[in-house]
Amino acid sequence: MTGRAVRTTCAYCGVGCGVSATVTGERTVTIKGDAGHRANFGRLCSKGTHLGETVGLEGRLLTPEVFGRQAGWDEALDLVATRLRDCIEQHGPDSVAFYVSGQLLTEDYYVANKLMKGFIGSGNIDTNSRLCMASAVAAHNRAFGEDIVPCTYDDLEAADLVLLVGSNTAWCHPVLWQRLERAREQHGTKLVVIDPRRTETAEQADLHVPVAPDGDVALFNSLLAEMQARGLLDADYLAEHVNVPEDFWAGLTGDHGIAPDTFRSLADLVAAHPKMVTMFSMGANQSVSGTDKGNAIINLHLATGRINRLGAGPFSITGQPNAMGGREAGGLANMLACHLGFSKAERADVAAFWQTDRLCTGPGLKAVEMFQAIHEGRIKFVWVMATNPAVSLPDAGFVREALARCETVVVSEASADTDTTRLAHVLLPALAWGEKDGTVTNSERLVSRQRPLFDPPGESLADWQIMSAVARRLGWGDDFAWDSVAGIFREYAAMTALAGRHGKVLDLTDKAQLDDAGFDLMEPFQWGGAFPLANGYATPDRRARLVTVQAPEPAAANPDFPFRLNNGRYRDQWHTMTRTGWSATLSQHRREPLLEVHPADAAARGLTAGGLARIVTAQGSAVYRVALSDGQRRGDLFVPMHWTDVTAGGGRTNRLPGQGVDPVSGQPGYKNTPAQVEPLKPEWRAFLVSREIAAFEGLIWWARSRVAGGWLCELAGDGACDIARMLPDGARIEAADHVRGMRRVAVQDETGALLAALFVTRSGELPPREWVAAQLAQSAASPIELLAGRASTPAPDRGPIVCICHGVGENEIAACGAGTVAEVGEATQAGTNCGSCRPAIARLLAGLELVEAAE
Ligand code: SF4
Repeated sequence: MTGRAVRTTCAYCGVGCGVSATVTGERTVTIKGDAGHRANFGRLCSKGTHLGETVGLEGRLLTPEVFGRQAGWDEALDLVATRLRDCIEQHGPDSVAFYVSGQLLTEDYYVANKLMKGFIGSGNIDTNSRLCMASAVAAHNRAFGEDIVPCTYDDLEAADLVLLVGSNTAWCHPVLWQRLERAREQHGTKLVVIDPRRTETAEQADLHVPVAPDGDVALFNSLLAEMQARGLLDADYLAEHVNVPEDFWAGLTGDHGIAPDTFRSLADLVAAHPKMVTMFSMGANQSVSGTDKGNAIINLHLATGRINRLGAGPFSITGQPNAMGGREAGGLANMLACHLGFSKAERADVAAFWQTDRLCTGPGLKAVEMFQAIHEGRIKFVWVMATNPAVSLPDAGFVREALARCETVVVSEASADTDTTRLAHVLLPALAWGEKDGTVTNSERLVSRQRPLFDPPGESLADWQIMSAVARRLGWGDDFAWDSVAGIFREYAAMTALAGRHGKVLDLTDKAQLDDAGFDLMEPFQWGGAFPLANGYATPDRRARLVTVQAPEPAAANPDFPFRLNNGRYRDQWHTMTRTGWSATLSQHRREPLLEVHPADAAARGLTAGGLARIVTAQGSAVYRVALSDGQRRGDLFVPMHWTDVTAGGGRTNRLPGQGVDPVSGQPGYKNTPAQVEPLKPEWRAFLVSREIAAFEGLIWWARSRVAGGWLCELAGDGACDIARMLPDGARIEAADHVRGMRRVAVQDETGALLAALFVTRSGELPPREWVAAQLAQSAASPIELLAGRASTPAPDRGPIVCICHGVGENEIAACGAGTVAEVGEATQAGTNCGSCRPAIARLLAGLELVEAAE
């Protein structure tokens, strides 16, 4: 492959895989895993593998906009600066806020933090990482004295036992899953998955512990009590390195509710394997007891001495590509900068470093509080960067209301149309992955370069450039005068010297002298090394802390909302689909948001596989297609969090959870919301394939996904189906069967190419979508075939696609006669490229359906 080679880092999750990109054209690139990168050694998951499908300019914001019209940069930046200054002068610095993102590079974070905390003088900058792992940060701070992840990926591979807590690793951190799979093959690592759901990850485990929602503290307390009873505490380690509260051992109570046999099996595994890593993620963190969960896990490791040595430790895995960089640079409202807090001495050092007399006096508002303050009018100016809070924060309807009330909403974005950009007064076009230049830190403290593949499109600028331009307008030009991202990195690296002065481990000072060329060539490096806490904890006495944590009281039964609603991610989608939603390949995995419910609960509520259901909570309601799953606990519901008002009607999941947060970390409790569910019986159902994005009004439900050459939309409604409004102009061919309540309409252009096709039924079945959708790109079908919804000589039905890399369907896997995942790979190639589908293949081989949501 000829082209320009660029080594960069994946845009998506906190694994932080290295990418070897080859730029082949103005906006085209081929993607491979970087064999030399220590996070992934050449592997990529499905999302990383298909990054090249997401670098087009469709849907990009390319020019500044002011009050809905295009504007020049000067006008937009002048307006932002004027509104900021006026607000600060009239209402004080705490009347403004920045809400930023783990999508920002560390240098962007550094500038945002310096501007808000150092010069505007407010702590009101918080990052969407608050939603992801703030509880792990708080747990680290309580136990270690600093937000330190004491493990690396090498520990995962060296461990004899891995506990995964609240982590669907096979879907959400797939390359780590692949490393774990390999370790299990090579030396028989035991795997326990602690998760209310039997996910594809749990199905591959030696033991699945179906903990109740928020039952983790009771479970880990009980496990520690059991280790104590078995004489397995490490008395020497405790004596030398750990402070234990007086009442600690008496406090290890709580009803974990796990079947005695399962608990005994878990305890036996833990007892037998001192080389143990506990990896925890959003399932643990996104809880009103998330910090306590983190400390319950850390307590077990500290008390058994399973930390600071190869193959042992508590390991928080972050969701976003640079959540960790944000934590380091100061993107969280309750940290000042470089892991420093707000003590007098820390503030004095930071003020001196930044040469400012305007440093904020204390922490700012955390994400949920920030939007409450906006709703109440206490914050009058908010600048949202690279995130979509109108969809992603809990009680998202409230957040939308807050933004709609706010006097000034500025949004820096790469995407033109998100639920949040629709509420902005000023839109500023920012760079996207493939254009950004800077650094990210992954879950194992590995700092890697993200390098640009393409020139900035349109008028877009880097986030740090946009913020610096505003800072100059506010009179702080000398303090924001960088002319390259390397200069910002050097300043940030030099500033980490302050962390050491206050007993912290974070230290990048050896990079502070890199020149621009050196920064450009900088190889990934891991701050803190393999065992960052081996020489002492970051507390005044250099000792760790066991933290007394109590299991939360079980919620009282609520007859109005008898179910517990959980939410999470799909394997091939990322956040609110602003990038992955543009990939036709990735969209094949799950085309619509599904409600997963236990079959017995479904029967009791009158829900059927493939039917629609409305979930109602105290905050709002949303609609999903029903999928039956005996991997769900009775009484629990699960829905994905990706769809938005831009991509679905009524499927915006985060309008459902409430505003309850963990009292220590401020992280919202997304995963345990009291809910009710009821069946919906629309009068008609339909699907539409179309070249252009269609608009829908007045439907009960719709969901949109990308296909080659256009879009596939699932629809449902009552009354008349407004065909005229949904279809474009062109030559129409049509078939109707009024007895069966069926209508099919195709629209072609003057060459006969398909522009759109709509299939509606009131009582019958709809044909498989994929063949019809494929005609958008192929345009070879006759009118009769189009209206029939299939070719006159149909190709064998491959079934739902399982392997998106090689386009292998469920029926092909079933027919190939293989008995193992490896044999399926040999016979069909499925699972042999990125490997993300291997758990799904294993599920099929075990005779389980991937998802029971047939119509
Ligand atoms: Fe990207 Fe996948 Fe690696 Fe995560 S695991 S960084 S999404 S390639």
